Amino acid sequence: MIIVTKPGATEEQIQHIVDRIKEWGLRPEVSRGAVRVVIGVVGPEDVIREKPLAAIPGVESVTPVLKPYKLVAHEFRQTASLVKVGNVTVGGPQVVIMSGPCSVESREQLISIANDVKKAGARILRGGAFKPRTSPYSFQGLGIDGLKLLAEAREVTGLPVITEIMDTKDLEVIEQYADCLQVGARNMQNFSLLKEVGRSKLPVMLKRGMCATVKDLLMSAEYILSEGNFNVMLCERGIRTFETYTRNTLDLNAVPVLKRETHLPVVVDPTHGIGLREHVPAMALAAVAAGADALMVEVHNSPEMAKSDGEQALLPNEFEDLVRRVRAVAEAVGRAL
Ligand code: PEP
Ligand code: MN
Repeated sequence: MIIVTKPGATEEQIQHIVDRIKEWGLRPEVSRGAVRVVIGVVGPEDVIREKPLAAIPGVESVTPVLKPYKLVAHEFRQTASLVKVGNVTVGGPQVVIMSGPCSVESREQLISIANDVKKAGARILRGGAFKPRTSPYSFQGLGIDGLKLLAEAREVTGLPVITEIMDTKDLEVIEQYADCLQVGARNMQNFSLLKEVGRSKLPVMLKRGMCATVKDLLMSAEYILSEGNFNVMLCERGIRTFETYTRNTLDLNAVPVLKRETHLPVVVDPTHGIGLREHVPAMALAAVAAGADALMVEVHNSPEMAKSDGEQALLPNEFEDLVRRVRAVAEAVGRAL
């Protein structure tokens, strides 16, 4: 249920609405606009429906949210949410590029790539320390040592760092070293992990599961917001289809659909989406044209030596060229880089 207050509602009236909702065992989520205050009422639908919300002084309207997701819905927050990763804002007029290697492999590898992507125009550094691999015999990541290297790379470049969390037990240590949590495609419906990151102070980038619908993605994001963390970005990274030529099928339909359905920023990862180096730039440009707020692009200085995803990583000079072209497309669609 969404309550919209009258334009002249006083602070006392708003507080009274909040107190009443709490008294009924429900949870108020307050969103303040320029003129009105919107209060989302969270709790069991049948309980909420019984309550005389419209009778509380200061309430102008009470609208049921018929969609299964509420806090992520545009009805709850009309304006686009801005998510801060370190000192970088995602969701505003500027398109943000996150880049770096798939996995953190060594100090030399990470610092060299971090310097390259920074110079080319990336504003957030990515790198996996805990890696979700299909095979238990593949490289699993450097773990805490990898996190320390990411923090070192942030010192060197000034770029804030995003890294994947796979397990709730790692949250505390990742929080010590990173600026943003990534929940990967394979964990999009790991609900205990979603609840745990929902209680974190760090922003979260939630990647779409490879067999998940847009609605599934929004429901998973709802888990994070419902625990109090509203700093969430959604990431389209390709889904499984019958097509085998490419690694996944990048569902760019999801970009305008998500922008309409939710106030959360939308990120596109063309690297995992298509999985073939030579085609990553085309999909990155298409993503910006479709309205993406940010891109995540894997870069490696020696892809044939990479411990994961070498076949899809751009070389630093290819990334530099891509950034130039992303700028042109961003400007063509009324954004900046
Ligand atoms: C990654 O970003 O390296 C990754 C593992 O992504 P995804 O979860 O989308 O497969
Ligand atoms: Mn990867």
